[in-house]
Amino acid sequence: MLRPIGRRCQFRSSAPVFSSDCDYTGSSVAPTKTSPRKRGFRKPRCPAASANAWTERTSNGTRILQVPALNKIPWLVHGFGTRPGGVSTLVGHSAVTQEKVEQVLNLGFAEWDSRENVLENRRRFQSALGAGGFPLISLKQFHSDVVHVFETTPAEPCRGDASATNQPGLLLSVQTADCVPILLVDPRKRAVAAVHAGWRGTLQRIVMKAIGKMQMEFATKPGDLLAALGPAIGGCCYEVGTEVASAFLARFPNAAEWFDELRTGDEPNPLQWLSMMPPGHQPPAKSVYLDLRKANRAQLLDAGLSAKNIFVSDLCTACRRDLFFSYRKEGPQSGRLMSVIGIRRAP
Ligand SMILES: [Zn+2]
Repeated sequence: MLRPIGRRCQFRSSAPVFSSDCDYTGSSVAPTKTSPRKRGFRKPRCPAASANAWTERTSNGTRILQVPALNKIPWLVHGFGTRPGGVSTLVGHSAVTQEKVEQVLNLGFAEWDSRENVLENRRRFQSALGAGGFPLISLKQFHSDVVHVFETTPAEPCRGDASATNQPGLLLSVQTADCVPILLVDPRKRAVAAVHAGWRGTLQRIVMKAIGKMQMEFATKPGDLLAALGPAIGGCCYEVGTEVASAFLARFPNAAEWFDELRTGDEPNPLQWLSMMPPGHQPPAKSVYLDLRKANRAQLLDAGLSAKNIFVSDLCTACRRDLFFSYRKEGPQSGRLMSVIGIRRAP
């Protein structure tokens, strides 16, 4: 039903459209007096740069993260873009140096950047991957569960948050700046997918729906799939309102495992006597920390993937602003990372 017909997007949605690729503002809760201690002991837990069996491909200042297990597949091209390099200029953002002006590889169109810069960055990114000749298929992402299957390049970007193909020569992409980029490959059926999973998409099980689409369209067996979950905002930094936690708990039996110190406000307050607060009158918790990659990994396991075939980057986009863009940290001035996957044509 969602297959593009005649090179045009068939799908039209009535769902609300968010103006940015990654909408975090809706769930964001500013630190409140009810949780002043959280910052103190959570921050050091952010993972440092890690080998984690991921490799880096560098070309002319462009740095791309890859998964060795995917690199072994000779017909596959894949990569997760990073921040450094590129021709776009960000002012006053560098987390590494005190420089006010920083050259970055912004791969998404944005008001603060020129179209020419983004196209040049994309050209460099694809060239570094050895995918210069691939038409890039990008989506108008809107935090949905919409999955498109492409047999050819659409005339215009389709509205959706995941794409899949078994056709060689197409480069599927998702753009992120904190959300989880997920790349899927079926080595047996020779099919691939790219998924954008923020909290809304994760709540709607978009990665499971992408796998379902691969099962229907390509006869994919989930046990054959390899999955790579790229850099995203970590459980160390991704503070969301308790209403987000409640929504996950209502839909997933194991959702509590994805939240750090989930507090709904109904728990007894162990310090109520010390603080001289009458029982039942302690202020309710306002926020929790969500690990989006953990949630998506759980969905992949539920879908039937083997744990050994799931590769999860532990790099946090909010902690590692030297390497990535973070909408949470940088707001609308943030750049966009891009993650891509495609099938090479036979030589
Ligand atoms: Zn972090």
